[in-house]
Amino acid sequence: MKEYRLYLNGEWLETEGHFEVENPAKEEVIARCAVAQEDEVRQAVEAAREAFPSWSGKSAEERGELLTAVADQLIEEMDELAGLEAQETGRSIKEILAHDLPATADLFQYFAGIAPAVFGETIPVPGEYLNYTRREPLGVVAGITPWNFPLWLGALKIAPALAAGNTMVVKPASLTPLTMLELARIMEEVGAPPGVFNVVTGPGAQTGQLLVAHPGVDKVSFTGETRTGTQVMTEAAKHIARVSLELGGKSPNIVFADCDFDKAVSFALLAIFFAQGQMCTAGSRLLVEKSIHERFVAALVERAVKLVIGDPLEMETEFGPLASKAQLEKVEHYVTRAVAEGAQLVLGGQRPKGAQFERGYYFEPTIFDNVRNDQTIACDEVFGPVLSVIPFEGEEEAVRLANDTEYGLAAGIWTRDLGRAHRVAHSVKAGKIWINCYNLFPPAAPFGGFKKSGFGRELGLHSLLDLYTEVKDIQIDLSRDYFDWFI
Ligand code: NAD
Repeated sequence: MKEYRLYLNGEWLETEGHFEVENPAKEEVIARCAVAQEDEVRQAVEAAREAFPSWSGKSAEERGELLTAVADQLIEEMDELAGLEAQETGRSIKEILAHDLPATADLFQYFAGIAPAVFGETIPVPGEYLNYTRREPLGVVAGITPWNFPLWLGALKIAPALAAGNTMVVKPASLTPLTMLELARIMEEVGAPPGVFNVVTGPGAQTGQLLVAHPGVDKVSFTGETRTGTQVMTEAAKHIARVSLELGGKSPNIVFADCDFDKAVSFALLAIFFAQGQMCTAGSRLLVEKSIHERFVAALVERAVKLVIGDPLEMETEFGPLASKAQLEKVEHYVTRAVAEGAQLVLGGQRPKGAQFERGYYFEPTIFDNVRNDQTIACDEVFGPVLSVIPFEGEEEAVRLANDTEYGLAAGIWTRDLGRAHRVAHSVKAGKIWINCYNLFPPAAPFGGFKKSGFGRELGLHSLLDLYTEVKDIQIDLSRDYFDWFI
């Protein structure tokens, strides 16, 4: 079993308290990690503060060199890191190798490349003045991340924050902290100056809370549940730390009768069953136009039963266990409740049978049909492999149902009618819209939520400039004379 310490100020620090990390496929402990208490959190923030003047004083190109070296090392260690991430998350190694690791390396490359794009503007003002702005880094950024995509969602924060000249303290989720700690090792190996990047581990309500509350933190970049986001925002407000929140979702995936039928079926499966549905953008409400509804559900079920459920470390596995016992119990609770509320179970709804599933938090891909949008299963974020199919009639009803949610993270639209695709995209209140595709996150395109899905846009120039820099305006008098107000 591997032992991990905290990574503070370029050193690995042992603590008194510990917690264990479990492989959800085997229900076995795979690592022991340190709990950062008040003193260690303080040390981490102080180290980041101390490193800030020197790191922010480097040129964007120099900072970019470090990020490029991180990207290269991630590619070098891709297989080992993917194996570790599969063991801590329960997600299939096939998925992690195809998406998470390359996407994480891409993010470091991308932000290394656009780091020099942080510059100000010259503003014409009346009188003989020169007015210009500077984009300055904020200082110490606390990155708090969830358990579902540990490295990739971490990189969404780390790459732009460091590129812009900030220093960081990252608090990964306690279920899956291991690859983030490996990233700290990579930072050390490629020569990140001490204090520029620090990782503290421990329970969110303890270590996370202490980090957010620390007055030396200038910005909190949080990804997680909407309820936790509220707590984080409240705590950060006490010392006016800047906050950006990437929170939950209940995304509508809207299928019109004129869609490319096979492609829409295939992507409806990807939208809900990628990462066992444990994805903030999961297309968990599938709105299907009534005229094709029955045929569409039949095709979905026919495809979904063929998903290969199994050990995440096997290359043929497409669908692993859920991330934890608590997650499994949560999904079971929602399924029981959906049945009680009258939703029609057409697939799954239980743990898979067979000796290989006796250990591990496995749950079958599950589809409910003829769900009403006001039923619990269609309102709450299940964060599991449970799809609610909701039939609709016409464009107006589709938009009304899509928007009838407290969330606004993402939406899918499937139609061959170009005008309708754009009309619906403009009417749906969500930060990310995919037309005839789903779950694509190019590094240059902004991503974030409307409504209770949070605020602030990660990815792209938006995150570099808006989330990790502050604007300073400078005005210079160019005239020979001066105006004496009191004469
Ligand atoms: P969570 O809110 O339980 O935890 C997220 C992080 O916050 C963890 O590191 C946790 O330890 C920490 N934390 C918990 N309480 C805290 C507190 N009081 N102060 C500071 N930190 C605290 O979320 P989770 O269960 O890890 O992740 C699942 C949730 O994340 C889902 O709701 C999902 O939709 C959301 N999510 C959103 C996005 C997005 O980009 N919008 C991406 C992935 C996941």
